Amino acid sequence: MNIINTIEEMQARMLELKAEGKKIGFVPTMGYLHEGHMALMKKAKKENHILVASIFVNPLQFGEGEDLDAYPRDFNHDSMIAQQEGVDYLFYPSVKEMYPNKMSVTVTVKNRTEVLCGKSRPGHFDGVATVLTKLFHAVLPDRVYFGLKDAQQVAVVDGLIHDFNFPIELVAVATVREADGLAKSSRNVYLNPFERDQAKELYQSLLLAKDSINKGERDPKTIIELIKKHLNQRCEAKIDYVEVYSYPDLSVIEELDGKIIIALALKFSKARLIDNLILEIV
Ligand code: AMP
Repeated sequence: MNIINTIEEMQARMLELKAEGKKIGFVPTMGYLHEGHMALMKKAKKENHILVASIFVNPLQFGEGEDLDAYPRDFNHDSMIAQQEGVDYLFYPSVKEMYPNKMSVTVTVKNRTEVLCGKSRPGHFDGVATVLTKLFHAVLPDRVYFGLKDAQQVAVVDGLIHDFNFPIELVAVATVREADGLAKSSRNVYLNPFERDQAKELYQSLLLAKDSINKGERDPKTIIELIKKHLNQRCEAKIDYVEVYSYPDLSVIEELDGKIIIALALKFSKARLIDNLILEIV
């Protein structure tokens, strides 16, 4: 595995590989790798000649008072995992390499951000879209892999790729979970044992909603209330949002029909956790 720290070297190596006709699969991450990231890497490894992963905790996507400094980091562990997953090139730039000067041009996301995490984390998706634009230009991938745990991010990346004509295929990968259903996340390490136990209720509440929909419920408000009641009875965490939209355009819907997302975010003492279910209702 090659570890590359500069954009210039990354681009040069990728251009050589592309000239040889190699297809490049890319998994961008913020590190502290777990089985969720590994599922993306496994799929990208299978579907491309070359697997590139990046580790970069992007300051642009963290708001004031968020966990930028506290975000867990462990490069030795991460490079071991990357090696084990067959990563050919691990891109690990510094903040100075990515943002040597205050940027004069950044990307602003206009759609699909006024709801869910976009609403509670203003500017977050602008930071995501800006860093991905830079990463896509550094890595020049043919395919990029993103997890559906961050389903709004997938919707935003879909918009970014289409609106800016990146010649890249977006591949969305199902959420990887712990045995009790909790979505794997680098932020799960912030949970104390008591909170960790309660955190399983995020997914349990989504399953309850799914069950109710399977039995015929079609009113989004009823589903939202059902989830909130379940969470309020079982979790001390503060509900940030529980929302239901069409997917991937994230429009408000009066009735559950077609492809929909049920998404929620909960604030525990040191961690804000998100989860969602995407369902196709016929
Ligand atoms: P992060 O390092 O949290 O920015 O995540 C990097 C990529 O891994 C993103 O595309 C995430 O959606 C994806 N990811 C994180 N957790 C999971 C998970 N539990 N299952 C599937 N993908 C995940």
